[in-house]
Amino acid sequence: MFAGLVAAKCSVPLKSSGEPQHARPYNRGLELEKALLRKVGEAVTRFKMIREGDRVAVALSGGKDSVTMLEVLLLLQKRAPINFSVCAFTIEQGKFLRPIRPLGDWLLSRGIDWHYIVDNPSLQLIEDVPDHGCDLCSRFRRRAVYDVGRKLGANVIALGHTADDFCESFLRNTMFTGRVSALPPVTYSKNKDFRLIRPLVYVHEDLTKAYAKGLTDDVVPCGCSQKTGTVRGSLREFMDQMEREHPRMKDTMLAAMGNIYPQRLLDPRYFDPDLSDEPATQSLFPILSEP
Ligand code: SF4
Repeated sequence: MFAGLVAAKCSVPLKSSGEPQHARPYNRGLELEKALLRKVGEAVTRFKMIREGDRVAVALSGGKDSVTMLEVLLLLQKRAPINFSVCAFTIEQGKFLRPIRPLGDWLLSRGIDWHYIVDNPSLQLIEDVPDHGCDLCSRFRRRAVYDVGRKLGANVIALGHTADDFCESFLRNTMFTGRVSALPPVTYSKNKDFRLIRPLVYVHEDLTKAYAKGLTDDVVPCGCSQKTGTVRGSLREFMDQMEREHPRMKDTMLAAMGNIYPQRLLDPRYFDPDLSDEPATQSLFPILSEP
């Protein structure tokens, strides 16, 4: 559907400070944009994330990942051979470290259909149970997201989980839940009201960080990103350390998630004792490397 998409020219908007992206040496902005379009285009095509007539609502937390995702989906929308619309919304759960309004104003000034919703039940939760965990917070957010999605007339909700999130979740599930699994690139809400998509599945956070930095100074960090001593934090540190020692390790992990070899795992539902133990022929989905 979108395979082979690359930017014909750099369309990264000016930084909200007014600094032109093109002033960067070697036109870094264009390189980042091309890499993003290629990776997001590949994910959207491979997993049939977006289809004719879709209304895609981007869950914009205000962080580097969701800001990048919104920009890339808007770029894809202009280039795609199908018609779909894109809007964005931010749910206030009381966890932003900076006001979201400057970012929202910047989006609105560019004609982007952005909506801001204060989720009072989440604010009440913070007051009543300040130490609530991610499970409860996510449940509250999910309810609010579906409410907003319905109001916006969306049938698709885009979530900003990155390649790093997929790798972290793959390790976490294997180590702590006894399942070989990560995150679904595409799934549906319980009542099938929404297709939930994760277009950044092949995009690493180094890329979103660099791209978002060139876009705006108004990216909003979440208070939870400062938490220390968590399993997630430890796994992130471990992966970053491994990546430094073995460049492209995360890409290899992603490739492994698309290249299952049941004959070397222990699930009898997929294990066939009469099959030979030949390694899988070729990776079905090759690693998407930087250009
Ligand atoms: S990290 Fe923070 S914002 Fe994210 S789900 Fe957990 S509690 Fe909620």
